[in-house]
Amino acid sequence: MKRVLLKLSGEALAGDKKTGFDEPTVTEVAKQVKALVDQNVQVGIVIGGGNFWRGRTSETIDRTKADQIGMLATVMNCIYVSEIFRSVGMMTQILSPFECGSMTKLFSKDRANKYFAHNMVVFFAGGTGHPYFSTDTATVLRAIEIEADGILLAKAIDGVYDSDPKINPAAKRYDAISIEEVIEQKLAVVDMTASIMCMENKMPMYVFALNEENSIIKAISGDFNGTKVTV
Ligand code: UDP
Repeated sequence: MKRVLLKLSGEALAGDKKTGFDEPTVTEVAKQVKALVDQNVQVGIVIGGGNFWRGRTSETIDRTKADQIGMLATVMNCIYVSEIFRSVGMMTQILSPFECGSMTKLFSKDRANKYFAHNMVVFFAGGTGHPYFSTDTATVLRAIEIEADGILLAKAIDGVYDSDPKINPAAKRYDAISIEEVIEQKLAVVDMTASIMCMENKMPMYVFALNEENSIIKAISGDFNGTKVTV
């Protein structure tokens, strides 16, 4: 794979604390991504916002406004992770679908391509820019737009199971599963909107646990401990 989109959940940045940032966790991610960049792999990054805020969890305030807070949380996450990446020697740029003054640049495919050509890691902050969507959908959307070879989904769990392994100890993990089956069985890989976009645009996903050693590097090789979602 020459160009990949790596999705990190917000919680993944928080480590055991579940909220805010855990610097050793993010530094470990940075080292792995640097190894990929050093091998001339172009890496785009989407980060969730769950370590700060989720729009749907507020029952008091307007959903659109709650989602705006969520999108801004993803901007904060990108600024933080981008700086950790720089601290280990990578060049980075942050693009967002809405203006954030001088903190990010406005997303366009041409701009992303320009930064990739300069060996930069490109962060896609702010989700899709619209409420009622998720960073899962933003991940698939940006992966399609930048014509990525695949999506690397770094999760708290090491792949796609036929049922929730926390509830069912006999749950079976798939080595590979088609996106049609994921949709039919309503398996929680990415949300339904994102799954349908993957299917329609033939975008494969590689699902693995972030906390396993060198899991990002292994996922890109195809020989990894996780699930390939085929298209
Ligand atoms: N969000 C949004 N539009 C997007 C992406 C994210 O409104 O295109 C908001 C939404 O409120 C979401 C929050 O940002 O809950 C954090 O994003 P993430 O996808 O991590 O949310 P989660 O899946 O954890 O709810």
